[in-house]
Amino acid sequence: MENFDLINTAGISIEQATDIAEKAESSRNFSNMIGPISVGLSTGTSGNRGIFLINENERARWVAYVLDRVIGFSLKKRKLAFFLRADNKLYQSVKSKILDFQFFDIHLNIHEHVTRINQLNPDILIAQPSVLSVISELQTQNKITIQPSQIISVAEVLTPEDKAKIENTFQLKISEVYQCTEGFLAAPCKHGTLHFNEDFLEIEKKYIDQEQAKFHPIITDLLRKTQPIVRYELNDIISEKKNCPCGSKHIGINQIEGRSDDIITIRNATGAYISIFPDIIRRTIVLSDPDISDYKVIFNRSTFHLAIKSQNKTSFSKAKNALIHKLNTYDIYDFNIVKKVYEATDLGIKKRRVENLND
Ligand SMILES: [Zn+2]
Repeated sequence: MENFDLINTAGISIEQATDIAEKAESSRNFSNMIGPISVGLSTGTSGNRGIFLINENERARWVAYVLDRVIGFSLKKRKLAFFLRADNKLYQSVKSKILDFQFFDIHLNIHEHVTRINQLNPDILIAQPSVLSVISELQTQNKITIQPSQIISVAEVLTPEDKAKIENTFQLKISEVYQCTEGFLAAPCKHGTLHFNEDFLEIEKKYIDQEQAKFHPIITDLLRKTQPIVRYELNDIISEKKNCPCGSKHIGINQIEGRSDDIITIRNATGAYISIFPDIIRRTIVLSDPDISDYKVIFNRSTFHLAIKSQNKTSFSKAKNALIHKLNTYDIYDFNIVKKVYEATDLGIKKRRVENLND
């Protein structure tokens, strides 16, 4: 991000891009374009924020790869429900004669989506594991009554417990996609193993243990040109799966550790329990001040223990105010936010930044 202006080939400055992305985020109308280039904000896995740029060709290629490797091509018209934090132009582009792509904003309380999702009865459901978990619970309570033939888990880490629960509810196998703002990184084979897309990604392994079982991937995208991704190290921790029965030569993934944040459940002014997805908390904090380089939130009873890492003394109050403002939009007023000292060790091996200690 420090060298954004030099690295991108579209001649877009970091100020210009940040301005467009922030406006799109706060107005929630998502007209995040500079000419033919769409601009996105990512909170990534590293705790700070990034800006990404993608042109129309790159977007088209993304759609083609997702269709080919994840959704699978079919002439039968299918309906997709995509739960997402922002309606990026990137995702809107998967709308065609054979796919009816419906977007559900995870900023809204999940209960506001129940009627619409039941009416849509999607063939394909795409969401983060935390959202899939809630949908699965509502399905067991008969509040949601959909019969998807495919469920795709994106963005966060899908724990084995959640996976089993959701698969049991819907009686099907979940497909997992390893996708982040740095690109479409890995897709599942027919045995359900995620394999890196090594036909267009160069993956280097930076081992973090002596046994060489776990590594940070260093990625080079051989196709992206608007914002070249060259030897970019991700904070995710990958454990490798060797000898997948599918026979693919692409590196197999046993598990991705690093983004297993918790849902926070809290009462609003009418006494109803509201689920706040970790992505909402992450973005609220990270976007409150560009100086924030890392953070940790622990929610216990009705108190948020907030630790902010920043060289700027005002960062804590900016993050605190942003969090208050965000919770107020859900009609939530009965909570405290207390300051904690940031300690790198708080994150532990799982790098959990948002943690819920309540049952
Ligand atoms: Zn495989």
